[in-house]
Amino acid sequence: MKNNILLVAETIDNQVAPVSAELSGLAARLSAITGGRANFLIAGSDIVGPAGEFAAKTGRPALVIQHPSLCYPNPELLADVVSDLAARQSFHYICFPHTATGCQAAARAAVKTNAVCVSGISDLRADEDDIIFQRSLFNGKLAMDIRATDGPVVLTALPGAFSKSPDDPGLTADPEIIVRSVENTAVAYQPLTITAADDTDAGIDRADIIIAAGRGIGDRENLELVHRLARLFPNAAVAASRPLCDLKWLPYSRQVGATGKTVAPKLYLACGISGAQQHVYGMKDSQWIAAINTDPNAAIFSVADYCVVEDVTTFLPVLADMYENR
Ligand code: FAD
Repeated sequence: MKNNILLVAETIDNQVAPVSAELSGLAARLSAITGGRANFLIAGSDIVGPAGEFAAKTGRPALVIQHPSLCYPNPELLADVVSDLAARQSFHYICFPHTATGCQAAARAAVKTNAVCVSGISDLRADEDDIIFQRSLFNGKLAMDIRATDGPVVLTALPGAFSKSPDDPGLTADPEIIVRSVENTAVAYQPLTITAADDTDAGIDRADIIIAAGRGIGDRENLELVHRLARLFPNAAVAASRPLCDLKWLPYSRQVGATGKTVAPKLYLACGISGAQQHVYGMKDSQWIAAINTDPNAAIFSVADYCVVEDVTTFLPVLADMYENR
């Protein structure tokens, strides 16, 4: 009982976000060490159907919590639902995806359940009587080991770190679904509406070649170097890491990564991108990956097939000149 695991799915507008399936991989790793059993908590306003499909796909039982206030992501309310459940049923591990909603809910749930919070884990291993969690720092350049010794642990799992389809004897073809409502939904945080972005941009999800710019591009004007290279190839598109979209240098429809798009082009050229796990999550399945970075230890080089240690503003014009003069 002590080692039971609660997996809190990320939901939005009564759909279960795909990143939630990776919690099943995290649970398989925890169960293999502790023998604990895992089930999902899936919250929404009318989510029984999608929750049933998700449970069948992951092979894990699910507790479905329904209330009109749970239609949109409400991390405060979700944390309250989790802590109420934890007060009645003992969980040693409570796991969220490492997303904006997941991190906010995890922090509140940890305080309310008096648990240790270990966020952004990318790996774990057994060590005597404990589990050691690994967390990446400085965009994947350093890894830190963390031991959580006492009581329950709230975890957030870095997108892309754990498998979606784990090999776990605890999985079943016909998992149980229990549906409940929630009574007390009074929290100060109240999401009102969600508006879809005006996404009329050329789809990076359909491009054969993606030239992706990161913060290493330096100035907004240097983006022209990336556009110039993209124009040289058929069916090529320009993409970006999140900081460039946050700066509004490119629209969010061009963002690759855990909170952006997942792409798998024939060639992904990363220009001045460090290789943070949240970015790599969205492009790691590309057929070929090439990266240009001034830092020979940049994490992006660990997933790249071709590594160019060079200044992008020097290298890209040379590359474009070469192709233009072929
Ligand atoms: P930096 O990390 O600043 O890296 C810049 C790189 O450029 C460095 O490696 C540097 O060595 C190199 N460089 C500098 N100058 C030059 C030069 N002249 N020539 C060549 N190289 C140079 N990020 C995403 O991209 N997508 C996501 O979907 C995403 N989701 C996230 C979700 C959450 C919950 C969180 C917490 C973060 C998320 N992030 C996401 C952010 C992510 O963690 C990183 O901060 C981000 O990917 C870093 O972007 P970057 O590599 O462009 O910038």
